[in-house]
Amino acid sequence: MTFTLTPTYDDNPRLQDLVERLRGYLQGELAEYEAEVGLAPESAYTRAVLEPVWRRSRALGFYGIHLPVDQGGQGLTHTELAALKEEVGASGRVLQHSVLGDMGGPLRAGSILRYATDHQLEKYLLPVVRGERACCFSLTETDAGSDVRAMTTVAVPEADGDGWRITGHKVFSSAGPFADFSVLIARMAPEPDAPADAPPVFSAFLVDLDAPGCTVLPGETPMSGEHIESDIVLDDCRVGPEQLLGAVGDGLRIGLGRVTTNRLLHCPTALGQARRALDLTIGFARTRQVFGAPLGALQSVQHKIADMATSYYAARSMTYDALADLDAGHEPRTEAFMCKLFVAENAFRIADEAVQIHGKAGLVRGAEVEGIFRRLRMFRVLTGSSEIQKNGIARNLLMPGEPRS
Ligand SMILES: Cc1cc2nc3c(=O)[nH]c(=O)nc-3n(C[C@H](O)[C@H](O)[C@H](O)COP(=O)(O)OP(=O)(O)OC[C@H]3O[C@@H](n4cnc5c(N)ncnc54)[C@H](O)[C@@H]3O)c2cc1C
Repeated sequence: MTFTLTPTYDDNPRLQDLVERLRGYLQGELAEYEAEVGLAPESAYTRAVLEPVWRRSRALGFYGIHLPVDQGGQGLTHTELAALKEEVGASGRVLQHSVLGDMGGPLRAGSILRYATDHQLEKYLLPVVRGERACCFSLTETDAGSDVRAMTTVAVPEADGDGWRITGHKVFSSAGPFADFSVLIARMAPEPDAPADAPPVFSAFLVDLDAPGCTVLPGETPMSGEHIESDIVLDDCRVGPEQLLGAVGDGLRIGLGRVTTNRLLHCPTALGQARRALDLTIGFARTRQVFGAPLGALQSVQHKIADMATSYYAARSMTYDALADLDAGHEPRTEAFMCKLFVAENAFRIADEAVQIHGKAGLVRGAEVEGIFRRLRMFRVLTGSSEIQKNGIARNLLMPGEPRS
């Protein structure tokens, strides 16, 4: 892998072509659209702003591109998808999450398609792939984050056995403000004759967000400043048997499923953002004058940039190495934990040094490196915190025979 901040894929002409077209779209049409509708990084926006991007990204072949051809995608390998996600992450675009479908789109829904019945595909999931509907994913509750089994949202069977009534309060459902339905995980009410110490059973439901008994409230604003979170409050909300995804008891398998793949595929977005921070910093160090010379002439600044680039190269190399292993049909579980841990910690360090080198210009709200810094700070907690990754690495090394996630 040759080091560059504009990766090329000469050994894969299809990918090279996709990356070039994606860069063109992100820096051309999408940038112009954001300017036209007046979007800044922390702007609140409506679904009306997003829908044209879903449709255009779909028309260009990017939205849902990772899916198999018979589901409307181009059947990309994990490595190819990662390369596109990295470009999106490096683009600096506000609506970057709507190009491949990370937020509410096919990247969110993709891994659950295989659990869906024909009815669920038709009504819920294929419209998401086409950019006509959007979904969110609701697992977390105020007192159930890393410890998902602590959730209290409960599904109680109807007296006539025809469906369930769900009651509970989910927080941090990303894309909730724009979504039509949620893939929602709930605890099943225990059977009346179940022993008191029976293990809890969790199931996944497709919950229409406009159903009676379901209320979508504005969620907390995270430090990224994005307005894309919702609370989903359920009060005796009825779901029919046709809304159960998979079988009763499949909830956590669906909710946390494909963990190795998902863990690895979260990394390229952060790598792209780190790359952007490095790129901006190199540009700044070349032009900012201090004491009559460019900032980049100072050896202390040169060393910082060298360290940033080396961390990025190491984090990227290990991620693509694990992705290649995944594409070869293996399951690099321990490596995926290592990648999420290393990428999150190092991408954040790169962003921190980027802010440092920018001085006051990097401390101003709205400066691009400042926004990247806040987003990458979140990545150390989101999608499995660094501590949880360390738990996984240690468990796989110390207790290799035990069940692993
Ligand atoms: C912007 C944003 C978007 C989100 N989007 C979604 C979404 O779309 N859907 C959804 O369901 N959830 C979402 N979440 C929730 C997210 O998944 C949780 O925040 C995450 O799982 C961590 O849970 P927690 O915040 O409750 O932290 P906690 O689980 O309370 O952990 C607090 C601290 O303790 C550490 N810790 C916890 N357990 C252990 C352990 N066993 N060993 C060592 N350390 C431990 C953690 O690493 C962390 O540092 C989102 C959160 C945010 C902020």
